[in-house]
Amino acid sequence: MKKAFLLLSLFLFFSLSACSQPNTELKPKLLLISIDGLYPSLLQKAKQQGFLLPNFDRFLKEGSYADAVIGVFPTLTYPIHTSLMTGVSSNVHGITHNYLFEPEYAQYKNWMWLVNDIRVPTLWGQAKKAGLKTANVDWPVSIGAPVDFNIVQYWHPTKKTGHDLLQALSTPLLVASLEKKLGPYLVGDWSIEGDRQRLRFAQAIIKQYQPDFMTIYFASLDDTEHKTGVESQSTFFILRNLDTFLGQLLDTIYSTYGNQVVVALVSDHGFMPVNKSINLNTAFQKAGWIKLNKEKRLTEWDVYSLSGEGFTEIRLQKKQDYHKVLKLLQQLARDPQNGIDRIFSQPEIEKLGGSIQTDFIVTAKRNFVFRDALTGPLVDTHVNYAATHGFMPSVPEMNSCFFIMGPHIPKNKNLGTISVLDIAPTLAKLLGTDLPQAEGKNLFLEHT
Ligand SMILES: [Zn+2]
Repeated sequence: MKKAFLLLSLFLFFSLSACSQPNTELKPKLLLISIDGLYPSLLQKAKQQGFLLPNFDRFLKEGSYADAVIGVFPTLTYPIHTSLMTGVSSNVHGITHNYLFEPEYAQYKNWMWLVNDIRVPTLWGQAKKAGLKTANVDWPVSIGAPVDFNIVQYWHPTKKTGHDLLQALSTPLLVASLEKKLGPYLVGDWSIEGDRQRLRFAQAIIKQYQPDFMTIYFASLDDTEHKTGVESQSTFFILRNLDTFLGQLLDTIYSTYGNQVVVALVSDHGFMPVNKSINLNTAFQKAGWIKLNKEKRLTEWDVYSLSGEGFTEIRLQKKQDYHKVLKLLQQLARDPQNGIDRIFSQPEIEKLGGSIQTDFIVTAKRNFVFRDALTGPLVDTHVNYAATHGFMPSVPEMNSCFFIMGPHIPKNKNLGTISVLDIAPTLAKLLGTDLPQAEGKNLFLEHT
């Protein structure tokens, strides 16, 4: 009996060892870092201004890089970060906007936080299926991600309950246990201090858990570009700080893993200066298609425009309103002072990458941005930001970045212009897995 028990124990020990220790020794670890709003010419201009960026430069010398990454529609943070995780366009992965389309709750915009809304496999899911240990700090659309050590991206509009909810939605006890050493995790804080805490939490997770695949997100560059405009001195100072953070992160990565680690650095979009806003909902309200209460809050709508900055998404309650709304939009577009560039309807919208539920996409001319104001002038000098994105992916200012270095990655190789859809299948291959639905190609086909 004792012998049988011993044999059973040995069998279980070896079986469990085999299950819990996948054959990952031959594959390097992979760290994917996103700096929101980083674009190639910003790095060049910062250097021309005398800002040293030794850690960004390290990727140029020791790895491969793109001259430019062309995005997909829409050039917004959530859709593009999801394309980075899946290798497919927005209308395929399902995250077609930053926000849910909820006109009644416009003052408390709900972001598309949930991985459940992503319709195709992600790098996280594929890595987990391959038996890899995964981690994440603050990557957009990460609530419910199949990640072993997950600090999700979430903030509550009122900021009051954000911290409790973030803890509840992240891996149980992870945030609380790290906070004992590192102080409070700064929820929904897009300043450089928020990024400093994201860095420290990421470093602690790397040292303590040594994930095989990890995603890390930094927000302060995007926030500063929005507020202070493109290529402001504040933007360059943030970039200089982020270069220091990158150096600290690389130190942690190399001291933990040695050289057997691939580090990829990506971004989601560039920036364009804006100084006038277009408020289509004011025209819809004047036409009687949006009803307001005494407090000027929306109570009913037949037609509503949800801004994505450089574009806006318009939906109708009743499809029979299509022609009268199109007529009004065409009339508004005829006056160049109104800043409307193009009007798209289905099936053009789906081809563009927009949602099947959207009736019209309207794009803005240079220097114009869409806002969701319900009253006031159609065109206004009031803008939420000095600079923004959401313009067509073909606009060069919307280009983003890609850098990668590590084992099997060619050194000092310029990959030229690539598609944002090429990044996920390339990373999947490096992880020893694949993304069968990816629309892009593996950038290092001959090397991996
Ligand atoms: Zn962004």
